[in-house]
Amino acid sequence: MATPSPIPPALLTSFHSYLLTPNLRILVVIGAGLSAASGLATFRGAGGHWRNFDAMTIATPEAFNADPGFVWQFYQMRRRAAFAAKPNPAHYALAEAAKRCRDFLAASQNVDGLSRRAGHPEDKIEYIHGNLSTLSCFQGMDYGGFVESCGWKAEDQTQDLPIPDEGVVPREMIPKCPNCKTGLQRPGVVWFGESLDEKVMDRIQDWLEVQGPSLCLVVGTSGRVYPAAAYAKAVKKRGGKVAVVDIEDRGAEEGADWSFVGDAAVVVPEILKPLMERPEVVA
Ligand SMILES: [Zn+2]
Repeated sequence: MATPSPIPPALLTSFHSYLLTPNLRILVVIGAGLSAASGLATFRGAGGHWRNFDAMTIATPEAFNADPGFVWQFYQMRRRAAFAAKPNPAHYALAEAAKRCRDFLAASQNVDGLSRRAGHPEDKIEYIHGNLSTLSCFQGMDYGGFVESCGWKAEDQTQDLPIPDEGVVPREMIPKCPNCKTGLQRPGVVWFGESLDEKVMDRIQDWLEVQGPSLCLVVGTSGRVYPAAAYAKAVKKRGGKVAVVDIEDRGAEEGADWSFVGDAAVVVPEILKPLMERPEVVA
């Protein structure tokens, strides 16, 4: 038996007709709710815990500086979970939509790599919080704050690091940066208290400044939290519209034009259906 659509028909029709606006520019803001349907736990934000520690106290440069082995144990677990997970129908629908729209950009807060594995075109997505499969260099901290990294970065590193899952890990066991040979290898994600990549943020800002009919589609993240809130607001300011897909009904309080309540894996493919009838855009 087919699952009945959770979306009220009138809401869907009105969204679909806006989606077919000629030359519509689409910005998708992606959050943890997109990957929840792939079985990945949310650690960001309030309530995320691991081994009785608040995830917000583990995912910081201070924590890594104090005990890199412990922080690596947390990330090894998350890396394995992410690499074992599979993209769900919403990841695929967004990837296919991106291929079929000339002006489409996704700003993903997820670090699990599932959008990439669903075939989302690389030039149509920015990973604003980095990626679990990326390794970079941690030079440490001094009294003045962070020490600038040497800039080393390695992508698609999916093998386990030689760090035991349990017990205290001495600092000497953490693999060194192969470039400067003094820094420690760290996960290539953005920690609490770290700033987002300027180039990435500039690209999204530039996108927001272009005129024309636009849609900000917020999937699986609170539209009240930075940067999603700022993007939705910027799109509205230029006369565009905002749609929210979330398991909780909070679109109305966020001023969304459409609020779709339900599992992203079910809702996203359905709301993007009209785009699938188009041919892929040839660059
Ligand atoms: Zn280095």
